Amino acid sequence: MDSPQRPTAYHHRLPYGERVSPDPLLGGPFFAFDGDVRVVPLAEPVLPEPPRAGEPGGSPCLTCADPDSSAIWGDERWVLKAGLEPSGLPMVALLLPREHYRLDNLSAELLADLGPMIQRVAGAVRRIDGVGRTHFSRFGDGSEHFHVWFFARPVGMMQLRGPLLSVWGDILPPVPDDEFQLNARTVATALAEVSGQPLGVAAD
Ligand SMILES: [Zn+2]
Repeated sequence: MDSPQRPTAYHHRLPYGERVSPDPLLGGPFFAFDGDVRVVPLAEPVLPEPPRAGEPGGSPCLTCADPDSSAIWGDERWVLKAGLEPSGLPMVALLLPREHYRLDNLSAELLADLGPMIQRVAGAVRRIDGVGRTHFSRFGDGSEHFHVWFFARPVGMMQLRGPLLSVWGDILPPVPDDEFQLNARTVATALAEVSGQPLGVAAD
């Protein structure tokens, strides 16, 4: 029953070409849309998956090609990047090891750093005036170079709770550049209290 393109029962079961109903989401507290919402037709699996940036056969790793691009803080092992795209959130940041690793081959030293680094970055983002909570996510579908996303959820904005926070960041009015730079300096200064130093706009 299994085939190279539909390798498991899970894959066989899905309604390819159809638009599934968005009803389970509509009216929910964490959903950003109402009205006539249509789900895109479900596409077939692509196997083997196309290489990610930094994988053999893929495009070069942008992080290794330009390590300091958009960096706002760094120490000897980690760097925090922000401002890669304009966002309607007070802060969207990426935590990356300076060396090119995947999650599954991170060194023991970096793995031991990771928990404290997540706590430090989340706390540094919360230092920004008006931030109520810091979300963080690891996707890894675009680039092989290990990275964790951090998203600042503005205090009191209860519609922005939950997994669509990054979507809200794409559709709310972008934060003005001078305000972003102030926020970046706040985050970088907080991180530098423990290790490393502000970089880029955060060092100005
Ligand atoms: Zn890399």
